[in-house]
Amino acid sequence: MLLEVRDLHVEFRTRDGVAKAVNGVDYGVAAGETLAVLGESGSGKSVTAQAVMGILDQPPGRITGGEILFQGRDLLRLKEEERRRVRGAEMAMIFQDALSSLNPVLSVGEQLGEMFVVHRGMSRKDARAKAVELMDRVRIPAAEERVRQYPHQFSGGMRQRIMIAMALALEPALVIADEPTTALDVTVQAQVMDLLAELQREYRMGLVLITHDLGVVADVADRIAVMYAGRIVESAPVHDIYKAPAHPYTRGLLDSIPRLDQKGQELYAIEGLPPNLMDIPPGCAFHPRCPLAQDLCRTDEPPLYEVTGTDTNRRSACHFWRECLHG
Ligand code: SF4
Ligand code: MG
Repeated sequence: MLLEVRDLHVEFRTRDGVAKAVNGVDYGVAAGETLAVLGESGSGKSVTAQAVMGILDQPPGRITGGEILFQGRDLLRLKEEERRRVRGAEMAMIFQDALSSLNPVLSVGEQLGEMFVVHRGMSRKDARAKAVELMDRVRIPAAEERVRQYPHQFSGGMRQRIMIAMALALEPALVIADEPTTALDVTVQAQVMDLLAELQREYRMGLVLITHDLGVVADVADRIAVMYAGRIVESAPVHDIYKAPAHPYTRGLLDSIPRLDQKGQELYAIEGLPPNLMDIPPGCAFHPRCPLAQDLCRTDEPPLYEVTGTDTNRRSACHFWRECLHG
């Protein structure tokens, strides 16, 4: 495994109490594999990613337990300097909002080039040539001229391509993309997602793709991990999930994807709201919203059961995964 998150716990201290944002997450990504991490906002998917990147180490967020193994080393035990080196060169992150992630007063060429100057010791001139090459790679037309322009002179889709170029510049082994297309128009979304998938294959990098939209990951992910209230509730190869989910929450997410053949019909939405992380319901955290809930669910927290009887590696944190799978 390239990346293995084991039993990760993260808390946030707020004025009103302790919010349990991540409550024992396990997931893994192999080299060349794409893992989609899916969930509503507040499910802990971004917080987990920030913990992996090491950009959460400051209060009020605190890692209270677990391990983050990257190429076999526990990142939580590295010295800050070593951690920074890993973060700069071996893993990279793509954020939703390129405009606030890019520096507004530097040209994109300077920002891309900076990576090569700082991490590869290149001259400004060579770094600039590299920047143009990268802009070509992410298919920004007229890269030779546009390398001089500033972030605000690019469209949202083009800026997101620049973010991807920045992330890939040093050919990291792992890229984490947090809602990389959410801020874009639907058509542009698909183009940017296709580009990211193509580059992921070409560079054979591990990709963690964080999204709230199950609809965008079908064609690009190998596996899906679904999060709810800071836990993984289902994990499976992408095609298995689409065929038959083994957790009622995943089923709800699937049923709420708009489909062409349902035009005009009302879209299904999961009833209720995600739980307050300062007061997570006992038993199964999903029970107040679950159509299959029974008494057991209100008292006993389901472990991440192995889903047996399939030839792939699947898990579900539902006492009644069989009923869900065959229901
Ligand atoms: Fe629903 Fe119970 Fe399964 Fe939780 S354990 S998802 S409440 S059926
Ligand atoms: Mg988020």
